[in-house]
Amino acid sequence: MKLGGLVKFTLIDFPGTPAAIVFTQGCNFRCRYCHNPELVYPHLFTEPMPQEEVMAFLKRRQGTLEGVVISGGEPTLQPDLVSFMASIKALGYKIKLDTNGTHPDVLQELITKKLVDFIAMDLKAPLAKYAAITGVEANSTVIRQSMDLIIKSGLGYQFRTTYDKEVLDDSDIATISGAVDAAHYKVQECLPVAKEKAALKVMHEEL
Ligand code: SF4
Repeated sequence: MKLGGLVKFTLIDFPGTPAAIVFTQGCNFRCRYCHNPELVYPHLFTEPMPQEEVMAFLKRRQGTLEGVVISGGEPTLQPDLVSFMASIKALGYKIKLDTNGTHPDVLQELITKKLVDFIAMDLKAPLAKYAAITGVEANSTVIRQSMDLIIKSGLGYQFRTTYDKEVLDDSDIATISGAVDAAHYKVQECLPVAKEKAALKVMHEEL
């Protein structure tokens, strides 16, 4: 695993679950508002955190933390994600996965092997408008496959859209929300990148 950071405690990122957050390096999107460029652009990557360090931390927190959020970057790009999540599961943790939905095959494997408890997937835009946000062509078929898999998984899940008002408008949000259950959909404010980058800097300095 290429791990770009660890937040040791959060009460707000995994519903109802005190958790740590593990960030993976690398993403196949280039979202115009991305607040984690250090996890997206290879020339900004820091030296990866040793996986053993993360596992040792999670062993020490057994019984204190209940969950682990795996975020990115895009975690499903990591070739050893399934075995990594199996190792975390073996420690008794619940796992939430944050994904951009570009690898439904990986989601299917994780669901089938019962290695994930909650999935949060970004819906960047109406399917026809994805590239305007992601900066690269996105395959709408795989995005739709991931949505369907998640909805039918029986797991906890959430879809979320960052409302970038320079690209999206209210009718776009209505199109997206019409495709999903309102109880599992959240629209979030598009925060200035500078503010988010400052938060990420703190995160790295705390390691
Ligand atoms: S999918 Fe997420 S991590 Fe990747 S570029 Fe977009 S906002 Fe950044």
